[in-house]
Amino acid sequence: MISNRIKSLSAYKTEVSPASVRLSSNEFPYDFPEDIKAKILEEIKKIPLNKYPDPEAKELKEIIADFFGVKTENVILGNGSDELIYYISMAIGELYLPVYIPIPTFPMYEISAKVLGRPTVSVPLQEDFDIDLNRSLERIREEKPVLGYFAYPNNPTGNLFSREKIEKIREEGIFCAIDEAYYHYSGETFLEDALNREDTVVLRTLSKIGMASLRVGILIGKEEIVRELNKVRLPFNITYPSQIMAKVILTEGRNFLEEKIKEVIKERERVYEGMKKIEGVEVFPSTANFLLFRTIFSAHEVYEELLKRDVLVRNVSYLPRLNRCLRVSIGKPRENDRFLEALDESIKELMESKSTHF
Ligand SMILES: *Cc1c(COP(=O)(O)O)cnc(C)c1O
Repeated sequence: MISNRIKSLSAYKTEVSPASVRLSSNEFPYDFPEDIKAKILEEIKKIPLNKYPDPEAKELKEIIADFFGVKTENVILGNGSDELIYYISMAIGELYLPVYIPIPTFPMYEISAKVLGRPTVSVPLQEDFDIDLNRSLERIREEKPVLGYFAYPNNPTGNLFSREKIEKIREEGIFCAIDEAYYHYSGETFLEDALNREDTVVLRTLSKIGMASLRVGILIGKEEIVRELNKVRLPFNITYPSQIMAKVILTEGRNFLEEKIKEVIKERERVYEGMKKIEGVEVFPSTANFLLFRTIFSAHEVYEELLKRDVLVRNVSYLPRLNRCLRVSIGKPRENDRFLEALDESIKELMESKSTHF
């Protein structure tokens, strides 16, 4: 009795191969210090486990609104931004109307649409990974999508799409969900638009700044939009422990966070420069906490060579435009050193093994 719509899907996959340097999921490289953990434990102990959490997560919402410089009326919290993506796909436009998605991008946009039976208008990016505006406008005028998802910066390519192109697409009457999961690494935002327009919302998350375990995503939009979207939200969607932990971290751990984010950005530039020096590797500029790269060998071979050297990255070569590409997250300086060394060795090894075939 399972619908064909669901049968045709494949379950979301993550990297499970064991490795001591894990740079495959764009996680924050640092856990929080002991004093913050001690404070969390103390607060967790006070939770009445038999009670439901605050359905509105009011206190956490206040802290998060303050953290992002907006009002609580402009905020919906989700069990990760993944949940909020579902809410947007459910609530914006009728379900028979399509969703525009520039690809390759974050898979949840397409998954949420497919689960709901919504058609998608997936338009491949240009060679430079920016939006192909002409092709997009053609398809949009033909197929009339009403909702569009823009990862800003895009995952897995790392670049920011041109703002003007997103605006041109919005002018076609498309509601724009701007996913700023990597905002802290890019500094670029559509926040003003989200606060002032009824056709734009911004998504943020705590996942890429050290709190992936908590599952807290944030939707920011105009009060009128937020009020409607909030009707879709499951009650109690933010667990009690997550509410408590996020509150402690965002109040006591702010300096730690800011300092470490800066370090990740600095490391991103160092790793980028290091990769540029490796022959046979092309690395693409990034405003996120990861780097996309292409080598002269198959991505699978490079992936396996890196794994032999105890380094795990993400093979993204199956995606459109990403032939021979892999994605590496920025880790701690020591992990990044190990990655750079392993990549250099892997490429040399592959060069040697190939030349002996002749
Ligand atoms: C990692 C990521 C997210 C995070 O989703 P959560 O459910 O909040 O963990 C959202 N969007 C993009 C583009 C991402 O890369």
